[in-house]
Amino acid sequence: MERRQFLQKAAVGTVAAVASSGMMNAPAVHAQKKIKWKMVTTWPPNLPYLQDAAELLAKKVELMTGGLFKIKVFAGGELVPPLQTFDSVSKGGSVQAGSGVGYYQAGKAPAAQWFAAVPFGLNGSGMAAWYEFGGGLKLWEEVYAPFNVIPRPGGTTGPQMAGWFNKKIETIDDFKGLKMRIPGLGGKVMAKLGSTVILCPASEIFTNLERGVIDATEWIGPLHDKLMGFYKIAKYYYYPGWHEPGPFVEFIFNKKEYEALPLEYQAILDAACAQVSSWTTQGFNAGNGQALDELINQHNVKLMKFPDSVLSELKSHAKDAVADIAAKDPMAKKVNESFERFKKIIGAWGEVSEKPYYNTLADTYTFKS
Ligand code: CA
Repeated sequence: MERRQFLQKAAVGTVAAVASSGMMNAPAVHAQKKIKWKMVTTWPPNLPYLQDAAELLAKKVELMTGGLFKIKVFAGGELVPPLQTFDSVSKGGSVQAGSGVGYYQAGKAPAAQWFAAVPFGLNGSGMAAWYEFGGGLKLWEEVYAPFNVIPRPGGTTGPQMAGWFNKKIETIDDFKGLKMRIPGLGGKVMAKLGSTVILCPASEIFTNLERGVIDATEWIGPLHDKLMGFYKIAKYYYYPGWHEPGPFVEFIFNKKEYEALPLEYQAILDAACAQVSSWTTQGFNAGNGQALDELINQHNVKLMKFPDSVLSELKSHAKDAVADIAAKDPMAKKVNESFERFKKIIGAWGEVSEKPYYNTLADTYTFKS
């Protein structure tokens, strides 16, 4: 399209959008319906950018509806156990909303894992682009619809760390017999490597590691791992987070309750989700560097990188494990195909944009090890 044509078309589009949205002359219309919801989460109380993101969402919705739509937020365990968030929202009744991660639904909907994280898959910005422009969110809605749930992206933690270990990982065989807390598709890869994979909510990880119920754990990244105190009981902090290169958390809503809302409230809820998703993403990005520095320099954490040979083996096993899971479930197959197609498209751009740029920064930062 010629530049002039493009500019004309864009200007016409803007006028049409304003006219159709009724913004030109119509007075502000306000649904006067009073709504009270309960939101449950998988997060411990006060967890930055996760539990407080749910609380921020509630505040924004209340503010944007002039106090008419109120959401009361409960941390994991306060109203329902942390890992029953999805089921509670699905069932509805007393709970209408939730905050968690897609891979906690792996047992009932294997495809849900792709919306959280895929080992060696898309990073956070890639995931966000897939939801919006690669059909990811439509598929996510399709996967959750049979459970009467509507998902909305809740922000990415950014790349995670590989986790906390008490023994060095030097070859792929070092994963054999390891009892590790690692959810999602990453956990499926570890199981194939002979690890015992244990799924437990955040609130139980420290005690399980301290008591030897698990030998190793991944959680999130420096900011949150520091708060959990893992440095007190684990020797080595490994990177990179091959299993969760940019996972997204989710806001979920009971579909019937969401659809019963005035359209204005639905739009407000969606807008608040988008705003909080961005806030969460930036919060993680802003906080992790400082926390990593504190872990290393104040808490003497031993920062370790998985050897290249281990990463290369993990990548090859991850490819097989993900393909196996996708092959067993038609919806997972469909989602995986969409994911892989989109990864190829934006990967080509990443090859000439972010990758060479980050390579130029390779010797900018040095860490004690
Ligand atoms: Ca994690």
